[in-house]
Amino acid sequence: MSLTFDVGSGKGIDQDKVYDVIVIGSGPAGLSAAVYTSRAYLDTLVLTGSALGGQISLTYEVENYPGLPDGLSGSELVQKMQDHAERFGAVIQIDTVTAVDLSQRPFRVQGQYDEYRARALVIATGASPRMLGVPGEAGFTGRGVSFCATCDGWFFKDKEVIVVGGGDSALEEALFLTKYARKVTIVHRRDELRAGPTLQERAFANDKIDFIWNAVVTEIVGTNSVQAVRLRDTQTGEEWQHDTDGVFIFIGHIPNTDLFKGQLEIDDRGYLVTDARMATAVEGVWAAGEVADAVFRQAITSAGMGAAAAIEAQRWLDEQEKEPQIATLELG
Ligand code: NAP
Repeated sequence: MSLTFDVGSGKGIDQDKVYDVIVIGSGPAGLSAAVYTSRAYLDTLVLTGSALGGQISLTYEVENYPGLPDGLSGSELVQKMQDHAERFGAVIQIDTVTAVDLSQRPFRVQGQYDEYRARALVIATGASPRMLGVPGEAGFTGRGVSFCATCDGWFFKDKEVIVVGGGDSALEEALFLTKYARKVTIVHRRDELRAGPTLQERAFANDKIDFIWNAVVTEIVGTNSVQAVRLRDTQTGEEWQHDTDGVFIFIGHIPNTDLFKGQLEIDDRGYLVTDARMATAVEGVWAAGEVADAVFRQAITSAGMGAAAAIEAQRWLDEQEKEPQIATLELG
């Protein structure tokens, strides 16, 4: 399924306009915020970023989103969220934000294509895949190293791949890869998985999945494409080479907060700091979803945070509109 968005100065974009709300990010948090703000008759612009729909759009099947008992692909779920936000008038624009100025209102948001202004902001920039940081990883990305099984699994038909990580993502993606690969070996740095019990059961029951426990990848080697990984036993320090055609890395995510450094508070793990109502320390700016959530990081919790941020933004904007009238009344 393809997502349809306006590109650059697409329809509905007015350079001089001050939007009520700009939502930065188009994953479940951002699109859910846009449903709420646009349904509250607030002029809402969603700036998608480069990853349309965020990480969830790369997920093969979403099985735990309430109301979808038969599951749905991540891209279909995002398409429905987009349709929903647009139904209430939100404008969804492909543009990647390169800078923000939160020092004055209206806030200024610089994108690759245009500059935008808004009275309130909801930041929903999500998180990006964490890299191993070993030799060969960057060089072989796209030539055997991947961070997305849904995107690249097809290229490994009847081949052997390794999956690095022991969380839900690693197991979910390993299970998906068994549709194509002859064999999937999960390399995990401990002897116990972090993933939930359902995924563990499925992975252990799958004949195509093997495990290498207590091991880390120290190097990815090959010529034109990946041929092997160097592994180190975390208990004994022993090192060896393991032949493989592909390396899929799922070792967590890093919140996308670079844009806000020096303007918003960021905690020591890199997440934006908000209060329980999703508010940042800058009045008029809220944050929702994985950029501000070190704990839950689910599509449904992100969507909930987006809705909460939108409700708060709406209340705040209502108050802002009342303020001049109150001042006039007091003067009168
Ligand atoms: P995660 O839960 O943080 O797991 C990351 C895994 O990578 C852990 O097993 C960790 O090992 C390992 N790891 C981290 N750094 C590493 C390194 N440098 N070298 C080797 N291994 C490393 O991340 P995730 O799996 O992406 O999941 C993120 C969130 O999304 C979680 O809350 C998860 O529940 C959720 N999620 C849910 C579903 C679902 O419900 N279907 C699907 C996907 C994700 P340790 O275990 O030793 O720390």
